[in-house]
Amino acid sequence: MTTAVVVGSGPNGLAAAIRLAQAGVEVTVVEAHARPGGGTRTSELTLPGVLHDDCAAFHPTGVASPFFRSLGLERHGLRWLWPEVDLAHPLDDGRAGLAARDLGITDESLGVDAARWRRVFDAPDPGVQRPHR
Ligand SMILES: Cc1cc2nc3c(=O)[nH]c(=O)nc-3n(C[C@H](O)[C@H](O)[C@H](O)COP(=O)(O)OP(=O)(O)OC[C@H]3O[C@@H](n4cnc5c(N)ncnc54)[C@H](O)[C@@H]3O)c2cc1C
Repeated sequence: MTTAVVVGSGPNGLAAAIRLAQAGVEVTVVEAHARPGGGTRTSELTLPGVLHDDCAAFHPTGVASPFFRSLGLERHGLRWLWPEVDLAHPLDDGRAGLAARDLGITDESLGVDAARWRRVFDAPDPGVQRPHR
């Protein structure tokens, strides 16, 4: 049997390992860290019980990835969480521009720039499955 060694168990290493295994290759993943996951690991970095994302904290490309979608990861417990407000950017005048799931809230925070924002983001990618709200 063909064999392969994948160095690193971050999302890319694991995706490569899964793809190879799907093609019938016997794969070994080696990982230097005590836990798998690479930049997607979550750890108690400060206080006991307080969990921090070691690196990646939001995963739009994970949601959009046709490969990840093909794996049916929900069957293994994956659940995407969708915050009401994706991000806030403080403005000089004390207000904040918000990227909210409710575009009405985003519009309100962006004022005159709302129309430009909508031109870019108001047409959801048909390949991205969004949860019902
Ligand atoms: C601070 C920070 C914040 C980020 N935030 C986001 C975010 O919010 N959203 C997002 O999409 N992306 C984010 N990223 C980027 C994201 O984390 C990376 O794109 C992603 O983790 C890359 O995956 P990877 O599998 O290529 O490598 P990594 O996730 O880096 O995994 C590599 C793995 O290989 C192991 N390894 C390395 N060398 C060896 C070796 N010689 N032997 C054995 N094991 C080895 C490492 O221990 C590690 O586990 C962030 C990155 C950083 C640094």
